Amino acid sequence: MKSSFWLIAAALTLSAALPAQAADKLKVVATFSILGDLATEIGGDHVEVRTLVGPNGDAHTFEPSPSDAKAMGGAAVLVENGLGLEGWLGRLITVSGFKGEKVIATEGIKPIAWTGAEEEEGHDHDKPEAKAEAGHDGHDHAAHEGHSHSVDPHAWQNPLNGVLYVQNIVAGLSAADPENAADYKAKGDELVGALQAIDAGFKAEFAKVPAERRKLVTSHDAFGYFAAAYDIQFVAPEGVSTESEASAADVAKIIRQIKAEKITSLFAENITDPRLLNQIARETGVTIGGVLFSDALSPADGPAPTYLKMFENNGAKLLAAMNAN
Ligand SMILES: [Zn+2]
Repeated sequence: MKSSFWLIAAALTLSAALPAQAADKLKVVATFSILGDLATEIGGDHVEVRTLVGPNGDAHTFEPSPSDAKAMGGAAVLVENGLGLEGWLGRLITVSGFKGEKVIATEGIKPIAWTGAEEEEGHDHDKPEAKAEAGHDGHDHAAHEGHSHSVDPHAWQNPLNGVLYVQNIVAGLSAADPENAADYKAKGDELVGALQAIDAGFKAEFAKVPAERRKLVTSHDAFGYFAAAYDIQFVAPEGVSTESEASAADVAKIIRQIKAEKITSLFAENITDPRLLNQIARETGVTIGGVLFSDALSPADGPAPTYLKMFENNGAKLLAAMNAN
């Protein structure tokens, strides 16, 4: 029985060195923190999630590393947003040799057009030839911009779209790991209930705010779906992607608009440089009402470490600013 002793000893050494059943866990890659959180919540102990663009990161301009490609190559499930958000993803999939289950979280969502597209056409950085040049530096700017300038990718900012995100992730995890499908569904149903409750609360609260106060400025156009859901007007000097910088004319136009429409709320975002917002605040005398979480969650110890907490944080700050004075 000498050999079985060594087997047990080897097993004990292994279990001490590795987290419980790490080898059995379903390996999931999520493109950015909001999807990473949903995959983690839904997958629970059954999954090991790697998030490519982490807390406070910018999924529009991400540059994957070789270790990201390696992780993707070994993953059983990939969760992406779609709608042109991750312009860098196609090449990463090719390079990594990923052959697992692909979940497009926005599948089934009715995308909204990015209405700023027409207004932007006069600017040099949006002309097709300028886009083609942008692609020469080795990044996928051209492909990304072409896509995102017609469709707004920030669908997660409507909690009812979040319901579809959850259902798509549940379906993807279940397809890759049917044995645990009941657990994924149970956790998904919980999240769906919470998202529906958040939506109902927002509908009731924002409806109480007079229409002329339901207006605010953010740095980039990340809240189109939120705006449509709760009848709020968001104005942003940068476009729907953080890649295009606001021109002096964009900024001057926003400043005129803030004054003409008496907009009293300015918000910074966790993923964008606050300098532009600070400049607008100085020139209009409007104070900045805090930081909204647009395209990424906060780190675990911050105010928006989960998708649900992101809504709580953003909703509370928006309502406080709109209801001030
Ligand atoms: Zn964005």
